[in-house]
Amino acid sequence: MPKITSRLSLLILCGLTSSLAIATPIAHANRLETFVYDLTDSKIEFSLKNDIEPKGTVINNPTRIVIDLPGIVYQGPTVRRRVGRGVQAVRVGQVDANTTRMVVEFSPDVTLNPQDLRLKSTQPGRWTMQLPKNIAAIDLNTISKYVLPVTGVISSGFGWRIHPVTGERKLHKGVDFAAPTGTPIFAAADGVVTDAGWTDGGYGNIVELRHDDGSVTLYAHANSVYVSKGQTVRKGTAIAEVGTTGRSTGPHLHFEVQPDGKNAVDPMDYLQLRQVTLDLASNSFKD
Ligand SMILES: [Zn+2]
Repeated sequence: MPKITSRLSLLILCGLTSSLAIATPIAHANRLETFVYDLTDSKIEFSLKNDIEPKGTVINNPTRIVIDLPGIVYQGPTVRRRVGRGVQAVRVGQVDANTTRMVVEFSPDVTLNPQDLRLKSTQPGRWTMQLPKNIAAIDLNTISKYVLPVTGVISSGFGWRIHPVTGERKLHKGVDFAAPTGTPIFAAADGVVTDAGWTDGGYGNIVELRHDDGSVTLYAHANSVYVSKGQTVRKGTAIAEVGTTGRSTGPHLHFEVQPDGKNAVDPMDYLQLRQVTLDLASNSFKD
């Protein structure tokens, strides 16, 4: 038996035999459209504009799954989302002119058995991979203070970036969730409204809540605001609705978490998520 390096073992891929037309040049560039990691049932799903056979490897040190998509053009910066304790992050980016790479980074104490991992094509251009169930258990048991304030797709994460409107390099102090105008925004935790209504700084209509532990959550670009200053709200109460007021290029919620009541940190560290969705085809919703 040939010797296999301990750090790298091949991931077995079960593709459809009908999807072998990889070498055939295609008229339209292929594209990675979406990437979803569902924490509830530990499943990775992604969709491609056209069908292709992905290649995968499992690297145990550091622990991660790498899925390469040869022939897939992904135009845009590398997208990385923090997830939780079991799966720490998911990342998508272009590694060379012809290959898009998706990486799922696990906690070092997660055990990955490559034999258990199968990438399956459910229908042309749609792929899934079932991860061990115990990974979801770790993530869902992560202590998180806040519930998700809106149902939407994460369109921009926390961190330094070139601002899509002003062109400046600036710290993006929250997470953007793209959702249709009018989608309800819920209080992430019990709190008191410390600000509500129009602001001039670019955030448009906002709601700011102060919580019992002194932390603050901020909800920006609202179409309309349902609460007023001084009001007490319960976790899950509708406090506003999604809009595109202020400096914004499309309807979305800009959500901030300030644990000390002053400095914004990555909200993904504090939110309990059921799934992480990267909408890669659409770059239209950014603030
Ligand atoms: Zn934002």
